[in-house]
Amino acid sequence: WMSDYYLAPLIDCVRLMLPPGVSQPPIAQIELGPAEALPRHPTPEERAVLERVRRAGAVPARRLMRDAGRAVVEGLLKRGALVQRHRLPPPRARPKTQRVARLTIAPDASAFQALSRAPKQRAILELLAARGPLPVDEIHKAVGSPAALRALVQRGWVELTAREVWRDPLAGREFVPSTPPVLTADQERAWQTIRAGLAPLPPAAREPPRVFLLHGVTGSGKTEIYLRAIAEILAQGRQAIVLVPEIALTPQTVRRFAARFGERVTVFHSGLSLGARYDGWRRAQAGDVDVVIGPRSAVFAPLPRLGLIVIDEEHEWTYKQDQTPRYHARTVAERRAALEGATLILGSATPAVESYFRAQRGQYVLVEMPRRIMGHRKRIEEQKAAYRIVDARTVMRPTEIEEALYADLPPVQVVDMRQELRAGNRSIFSRALQQALRETLGAGEQAILFLNRRGAASFVMCRDCGHVLRCPRCTTSLTYHTAEAGLICHHCGHREMLPQLCPACASPYLRRFGIGTQRVQAEVKALFPNARVVRWDRDTTRRRGAHEEILERFIRGEADIMVGTQMVAKGLDLPLVTLVGVVTADTALNLPDFRAGERTFQLLTQVAGRAGRSILGGQVIIQTYTPNHYAIQAASHHSYARFYTYELAFRREHGYPPFRQLARLVYSHTSAAKAEGEAKRIAAVLRHKIARLGLPETTLIGPAPAFFARMRGQTRWHLIVRAPDVHALLKDLQLPAGWSIDVDPVNVL
Ligand code: ADP
Ligand code: ZN
Ligand code: ZN
Repeated sequence: WMSDYYLAPLIDCVRLMLPPGVSQPPIAQIELGPAEALPRHPTPEERAVLERVRRAGAVPARRLMRDAGRAVVEGLLKRGALVQRHRLPPPRARPKTQRVARLTIAPDASAFQALSRAPKQRAILELLAARGPLPVDEIHKAVGSPAALRALVQRGWVELTAREVWRDPLAGREFVPSTPPVLTADQERAWQTIRAGLAPLPPAAREPPRVFLLHGVTGSGKTEIYLRAIAEILAQGRQAIVLVPEIALTPQTVRRFAARFGERVTVFHSGLSLGARYDGWRRAQAGDVDVVIGPRSAVFAPLPRLGLIVIDEEHEWTYKQDQTPRYHARTVAERRAALEGATLILGSATPAVESYFRAQRGQYVLVEMPRRIMGHRKRIEEQKAAYRIVDARTVMRPTEIEEALYADLPPVQVVDMRQELRAGNRSIFSRALQQALRETLGAGEQAILFLNRRGAASFVMCRDCGHVLRCPRCTTSLTYHTAEAGLICHHCGHREMLPQLCPACASPYLRRFGIGTQRVQAEVKALFPNARVVRWDRDTTRRRGAHEEILERFIRGEADIMVGTQMVAKGLDLPLVTLVGVVTADTALNLPDFRAGERTFQLLTQVAGRAGRSILGGQVIIQTYTPNHYAIQAASHHSYARFYTYELAFRREHGYPPFRQLARLVYSHTSAAKAEGEAKRIAAVLRHKIARLGLPETTLIGPAPAFFARMRGQTRWHLIVRAPDVHALLKDLQLPAGWSIDVDPVNVL
């Protein structure tokens, strides 16, 4: 299914080396709905909107909402007077050119003599003779006379040509060139294994691709291995692509690549102007760069001699594009590596269960680096000096090499929030976290309070015993809507009313669960009126550059506590952060998604990775109502193995990937009744087909309203197909408009 419908055309794009636009996501455009849906008596605002859309044919949704106001547009969408479609944006970018002046003569004494009465022309001649061809702008700046240049052109001594210039996203930043360090024993072992897999292959020997899964704890030195592998590939005259989950959150990583490979590196990312993206693409195609760093779409970068693809933090869900064209960068990378004889390195501290499973079965080569490197000795000394630290609190042990030290992972304390309530503490902060915050602030150090963004205020939990109301059919947590609608299972559609008392302990403290960053900020203020708090969440980082700004403020020490829903940038040094508190681990854990356990483990491990990067040491406090859940237990012991064992058993028992494949079918419609009806109709069609074909181990979950039940004015219903191979059921399936299919979904919300 994947390869037929999605991968093949996408990989063709690479072959044809089309400029961006092809791998860019389609954008939402608004068009007029059917005539009968148009309002008879539109308000003046509505009339203006309808008129504009009618005239233009289609208007980008974002622009229309910005100009006319979200409410008006959404109102019209809801009534069907406007409809939203997704279209690929037209390629708008053009190459940017620059005029360059060059000499057509070899100027000798007589030439300069001839210009003795024209000092400006003479100056230009001297400039060009000394420095070779120069951009016209630069000549104007130096000599300041367009007329003189024109005169030289008229004489036929100078010619002007247009040269294409690249808009370089890395321009204007400083990079310290860095030389490769000596490797630690762990790194050396990993490197020797990977190095053996980097030799070029003849075309006939390219399948299956060579894939390494580099499983190393945060700070184990994975980036250094990527750098080595790239250097090796470049030495072979080949090229590399490095995928990172989000450029804005990985500035340090990007800088390390640029520091090592200088001008041969370019960065693709969505924050760039279309022009800059276009240039990056063409530079890659022209063979002008050898290393491309970027988010998932960079996997299509048209490097002609690809030798290596690195996917850093390979478990991140941002690698899946879940709008058309739907693809997972990992799948595309594997395919592309096989086609072009390249090697693939997947790196992560918390590999996706599917990836680790493949490694266990020998499809990937597993490479482990279990110890954390504290960093270069020099850097540690610098930190000590910069922050006037006298005694390091982190336990550091010597590595096999002079330059680096190993450090322990930070201690993690799991706090049982049920006990807090019993002890009469109704604050969102446990006594342990309050105490730790007090000490951190008292010592002039910094803290991060982390909160999971998604899924807040959705599930119902007993504050006495931690019991979460779950679906009796599929054990997914139930989502509370309103008193009338009650509780609903967003997997299978099961409904029930909200009970008065906790079914487990009969406590009346059954509560909807949800805390926002503002609430956390307010409580911090109430407890510690003098603490300076910054918020780092979707609301505060919407503006371009806001990420960097907030981080910079925090790094400069202008705030004591950062409350955030995004985890702090990978690789960033925050030497004064000695406390990371997870306000509630339960929001992630109770999302109605079979990957909730995995997400929670990944998140908590990442959080723990942020603390204790400092020589001041650090600690992590995780607050939860379910302290015994395996994801939380495993994270608190920094144990991927423990997590993987439990998670795999859970997946096997419930028939989830990697044991069976999933496909999620979503139907959206402005009418809630139509959405429900259509979802049920297709479910019946599929059930019938399963029975008719006698497909083994193939089941449907649902239909049910999606967890995000309303999006962009439309009601969403979904159903999930679970099968050894979903293709067998889904091929030849006729689906009317409004349906979308996601094979191997990364989330089912
Ligand atoms: P990861 O990518 O696994 O999170 P990094 O590659 O960022 O780990 O390494 C963590 C820290 O250790 C960085 O500050 C890096 O510069 C340093 N480091 C890595 N390898 C070495 C080495 N061989 N010698 C000295 N310092 C190292
Ligand atoms: Zn209870
Ligand atoms: Zn259910």
